[in-house]
Amino acid sequence: MRLYADSAKCSGCRACMVACSLNLFQESNPKKASLNLIPHFPAPGVYEMKVCTQCGDCAAVCPTEAIKLNERGAYYVDFAECNLCEACVPECPEDVMFVRAELANAAWKCDLCGDCVSVCGTSALWIDN
Ligand code: SF4
Ligand code: SF4
Repeated sequence: MRLYADSAKCSGCRACMVACSLNLFQESNPKKASLNLIPHFPAPGVYEMKVCTQCGDCAAVCPTEAIKLNERGAYYVDFAECNLCEACVPECPEDVMFVRAELANAAWKCDLCGDCVSVCGTSALWIDN
């Protein structure tokens, strides 16, 4: 299972990013979300959504094996085992692996909680195989 996004349906409200930061950090802070919205304005006037495909490339390079599989079959970061080395960041083909030492003491990524899907008012996000 993985998260999918239809950029054409995105209104740019960022409710998904707030929901994501609440899931991962129990904080309302879109800067700490694990999905990304890239605005393309004025042309073509759309938000480009970037989400984790659960490819596992981040887990393959992590020297401390901090990126593990959860009960949903999704890779997540075990915060206690991340040393902020950033090896995972350039491996992500979707640019949704985050290390920002000024914001958090560990890397973060999508753990497939589904909260962004629940809050999206335009059905731009969904989970499927
Ligand atoms: S499924 Fe959960 S962890 Fe993944 S992007 Fe959505 S809110 Fe964030
Ligand atoms: S930043 Fe953390 S999760 Fe990423 S590769 Fe390094 S130790 Fe692993």
